[in-house]
Formats: sequence, C-alpha cells, structure tokens
Amino acid sequence: MTLKIQQPKGLTYKILVAMGLGLVFGVLLNYLQGVPWIQSLVVDTILYAGGKIFIASLKLMVVPLVFVSLVCGTASLDDIARLGRVGGKTLFLYMFTTGVAVSLALIFASIIEPGAGFNLTADTAFKAKEAPPVIETLLDIFPTNPFQSLAEAKMLQIIFFSGFLGVALALSGDSGKRILAIFNDLNKVVMKMIMMIMIIAPVGVFCLISKVFAEQGISAILPLGKYFVAVLLVLLLHVLITYVGLIKFVARLSPWEFFRNFKDVPIFAFSTASSGATLPVTMETVERRLGVDNSIASFTLPLGATINMDGTAVMQGVATVFIAQAYGQPLGIAAMLTVVLTATLASVGTAAVPGVGLITLAMVLKQVNLPVEGIGLIIGVDRLLDMTRTAVNVTGDAAVTVVVAKSEKLFDQKIFDGDQSY
Ligand code: ASP
Repeated sequence: MTLKIQQPKGLTYKILVAMGLGLVFGVLLNYLQGVPWIQSLVVDTILYAGGKIFIASLKLMVVPLVFVSLVCGTASLDDIARLGRVGGKTLFLYMFTTGVAVSLALIFASIIEPGAGFNLTADTAFKAKEAPPVIETLLDIFPTNPFQSLAEAKMLQIIFFSGFLGVALALSGDSGKRILAIFNDLNKVVMKMIMMIMIIAPVGVFCLISKVFAEQGISAILPLGKYFVAVLLVLLLHVLITYVGLIKFVARLSPWEFFRNFKDVPIFAFSTASSGATLPVTMETVERRLGVDNSIASFTLPLGATINMDGTAVMQGVATVFIAQAYGQPLGIAAMLTVVLTATLASVGTAAVPGVGLITLAMVLKQVNLPVEGIGLIIGVDRLLDMTRTAVNVTGDAAVTVVVAKSEKLFDQKIFDGDQSY
C-alpha cells in the first residue's frame, strides 16, 4: 500500500542547515559557558525544552505507528508461511550484519591500537549499571496483557501482538476485512501525523545539536582522538563494505539510489541519538521512498530498531580493544570470539535509546575479564559517538529490510528509482 502524503518540501536541506547552525551556535555557547544565564536560560531551558518536545513528539507516534502499521502489514501477507520465512531471513541478516560489525571493529582496532600508551591500572571510579540478561529480552517477547505492552511501549511484545492480530484478521473473512479497513484508514492518519511532526524537525534538530555542542566542547575529544577516529572509521567501513555489499550484490540494487532516498533517516538518528525515536521517520522513508511494501517494513523495522544495532556493536568492539590495551591486558583469539558473540547478543538486548550501548558494554567487558571501570574513560566522548552509531543502526535496519523485501518480491522498483508520484 502506498500513501500519497507528501513530505514537507526541502526538508533534508532545512535539517542540514539546522544542524550546521546548531553546531556553530553550540560551540559558541560552549565558549560563553562562564556567563551564568547562558547555561541556565539558553542551554538548560530553551534548548533543553525544544529538544525534549521534539523527541517526545516523535516517540509519541512510535506505539500507534508500529501497532497499526504491523496489523495492516501482517493482515495483507498472502500466506502464513511467508511470515515465518520473512522472520527467519530478517533475524539471520540482523545477526549476521552485527557479527560482521564487531569483527571489523576488533580487526581494525587491533591495527589502529587506540589504547596504546595509556598504561592504566583499574582505578577510575565508574560504576556500571547491570545489563538485562539476554534470556529476559527473549522471554519479554510474550505479553500477558496487550494494553500494558502498548502503555509501556514494549516493542517486541507489540510486534508479537500486532502480528498475531493481523494474521487473525486475515483469517476472519468479512469481519476481518471490515476491521482491517479501519486499521488501513488509521494507518493513513498516523502517517499524516508523522508528516506534521516533520515540519518542526529543523527546530528540534537545531535545539538537540546546539545543546550537545554547548555541553560537549570539541576539546573533550582530543585525549581520546585515536579511539574516536577508530570508531568512526569502522562505522564508515561497515556501511561501505557490509551495507553497500548487501544492497549491491544481494538485493542487486543501486547503493547510490538507496542512500539518496534514505538520507533523512540517518540525519534524524544522528540528531536524536535514538533508533526508537527515529522509527516513525525510518518506516515512512523505507516505505515511501525505498519502495518496500508495508507488510515487510512494518515488521522488520520495529524489530530492527529493537534488536539490530550494528553501530553499537562497532563501538563495543573498538571500546573492548581500547580498554584491553589501555589496561595492558591484550585480547587473545578466544577472547575476541567471545567479544563477537557477546556483543552480538548485547546488541539484541540494547534498548533503542541514547547511551544504552555503554551499559551493555559492561556485559561484554565482564565476559572477557576486563575492568568495567574502563567505561569511565570513554564516557566523555560517548554522546557524539552515540549519535553517529545510531545513524548506522538505522541504516542497517533499512539495508536488511530492502534485501528481505526484494527477495520476497514485496518491493516497488519504481519508487526506489525515484518515482514518488503515486
Ligand atoms: N543510541 C543507540 C540507539 O538508539 C543505542 C546505543 O548505542 O546506545 O540506536
């Protein structure tokens, strides 16, 4: 099903300008830190409120969108066997890409040696929060009360319940058709609401970016320059090798067209540092600009935002090597394999919100007996890396979605090629 609702004209351009202005304004504010009202009025009140309202309005749409869209999506799948097949392919590709991401991170971090020369002993005071065990994340898929799942925005439970409801609608004859018609109408209304929120996106992005740079200051990056650059480099390589490879050789599509159509989404992800908050934009773009059918995108994207975090896995791989080197405890091959496995599972358990990747990093470090306090070293530069890795996280979800949609022939080449006239 394709929607005719138009995205605000020139949105990408406006958001990019907002980002640029936000960066300049934020750096300026950082210089003026000494002036008391700058921090309390501008940073902590105006920019804080602007950013919060923007993120809240995006998050507001996540539950209604996933619920309504996934009911429509599963109800329109022609056979149940397809549901299983799509699920299997998607899970495999999500795990595979995450495994590749960590492996790239370990290889390149071992070459770059970001932690060489630190000579630390475990004394930095950082107390890591406990990450949830992976089995809890898996058991959490099965809800007992769908209203509670919706109220608490439990994504995997919502996916389970909406999929179940969609299948039941498809099997319920005329009654199912009548209810489905209502869901299809609701879907259009929800999409319209998302479009309306996009109109304020440049202001929201400006507030978020200015606040980060007002608080961050570029100087925080310098002592950890090698770590910072190593994470960025591996993120870039992962996009160029893994995603471009998947799109070009598996889906047999043009990576150029993919990124041209998709570019707004990483920008949103970068600004919000949350795959969850970006989800409405991801779903809208993947369906309306990349030509993926709603029956695929409505399932793979909410799932991806929850369990597929390649960017986070890259950071965890590089951070593990960095901490190992900084504390003079090099990782052997067995430890590296443990890191690949744990970081892949940890990315499943990483919630799609800012900064969670650091918490699950504790789980990875513990597995290979590295000092968890090492996280204290990298926390200062984490916000900027969080923004970047979130952009990669959402790109990975879309790349896999396109591959799955193409293989299931639930993909519209004309839309992908740029014909959005219908
Ligand atoms: N902020 C990331 C996301 O929402 C998760 C993380 O790496 O902390 O995708």
